[in-house]
Amino acid sequence: MIKHFIYADHAATTMLLPEALEAMLPFLRTEYGNASTLYSLARKPKKAIAAARAAIAKCIGAEPDEIFFTSCGTESDNWALKGTAFRFLGQKKRIITSSIEHHAVLHSCAFLERMGYDVVYLPVDEKGLVSPADLEKAINEATVLVSIMMANNEIGTIEPIAELAEVAHKYGVLFHTDAVQAVGHLPINVNHLCVDMLSASAHKFNGPKGMGFLYVRKGTPLLNLLDGGAQENGHRGGTENVAGIVGMSEALKFNVENMQKHTEHLLNLQHLFIKELDRSGFDYVLNGSEERIPGSFSISFPNREGEAILHRLDLMGVAVTTGSACNSKETVISHVLKAIDLPDTLAKGTVRFTFGFENTEEEVKYVANYIAKILK
Ligand code: PLP
Repeated sequence: MIKHFIYADHAATTMLLPEALEAMLPFLRTEYGNASTLYSLARKPKKAIAAARAAIAKCIGAEPDEIFFTSCGTESDNWALKGTAFRFLGQKKRIITSSIEHHAVLHSCAFLERMGYDVVYLPVDEKGLVSPADLEKAINEATVLVSIMMANNEIGTIEPIAELAEVAHKYGVLFHTDAVQAVGHLPINVNHLCVDMLSASAHKFNGPKGMGFLYVRKGTPLLNLLDGGAQENGHRGGTENVAGIVGMSEALKFNVENMQKHTEHLLNLQHLFIKELDRSGFDYVLNGSEERIPGSFSISFPNREGEAILHRLDLMGVAVTTGSACNSKETVISHVLKAIDLPDTLAKGTVRFTFGFENTEEEVKYVANYIAKILK
């Protein structure tokens, strides 16, 4: 029996892992002490924060004191970009990013442009890939930072981060990656990736909302974004969200420990979904590169309205996202679909399906078959 609701929008957010909730509860109930205080009520929260920091660091091959807790992926991205730019205020002013970044990066760059910085938005190819050669051409003496996402949230494309970071480092330029869609889903070792900073968000890997972290390699020059108390080694003030930190660490440990099993399951669902779509005989285009986040699809149905498909699926209890949004006057196509040069006739009919480890074969077949019915 198919359950009534099928969630196929894991790139937007994920369900909170029950084990993460269990681990969080004591810190929302009895262990409410402020970790910065000196009496015994602070002992457990303080220990829990240290254990979570160490566990998270281990999951990405970092040291515990290189992990800084933040309130979300957006904060981590803002901190990496603005914190680096302001650290070199008056000295260096070029920032290089890509045209398919999340708005947390793009809008931070727009802000920095208004402050007088010079931002280069690298183009991508039709699969959404940034070219290391293009990056090399864009670097000049004034370049302070390169920020390229690890995996794209709309089309799932995985960028060649190690190669891009190598180019930046050849010219002594710092490298940040927005790994919000990758952490917990793809193997990550910050040393193999050679990144100086990496952003993550708990709710994308079954942790709580309102929680994230920024990895900052030891010795990386970065100004504080939030000044205040001595939390996060004096680099990010604000009383710690102990429950959030603990929940994030439990969720990340679970996803990293089960990554191989989840990936195999998602690749099987991926294969099944495509097989079912092909069987339906309708035309479609699968966007993104072959190297994508497992279980994620951006599919364009020619001459269709993505939003109409979304609403029909919603009526059947299936949650997905589109690559375009209709307002009263026109259909607004996402900056990512524009950057990969997708013709409007395809972009308007783009739907994003992102499956997670809890989706079943039965659910995937149901979604594919229901799409066929809608298209008919
Ligand atoms: N970066 C990417 C690639 C994302 O997909 C998202 C969220 O969708 C963010 C940043 C922002 O993360 P948060 O929702 O935790 O602020």
